[in-house]
Amino acid sequence: MRRNLLATLALLLLLVPTLAAAHGGGHAMGTITAFDADHIELKTQDGKNVSVKLGAETKYFRGSDKASAADLAVGLRCMVHLAADKSAAEVHLPAAPKT
Ligand SMILES: [Zn+2]
Repeated sequence: MRRNLLATLALLLLLVPTLAAAHGGGHAMGTITAFDADHIELKTQDGKNVSVKLGAETKYFRGSDKASAADLAVGLRCMVHLAADKSAAEVHLPAAPKT
């Protein structure tokens, strides 16, 4: 049991700096409540409102497909990878329903 705990801790210690380095500023996750050309507002699972700056460098994805700012919609769940300056590096939207 103790051995498992230590292994888990070791794994976390290895993973955390890697994730932080890969995406600079961490993540924001939630449901889109508002957006415009230069920012997006999310309501997180714990009920907080988060505002994230969008920029020319922001990349958009729908599932594994490339998307654009035009795919943003209020009510969609999204995951934002933050750049070091806390602006959005990547915005991940759920995959579009198959038609
Ligand atoms: Zn990320």
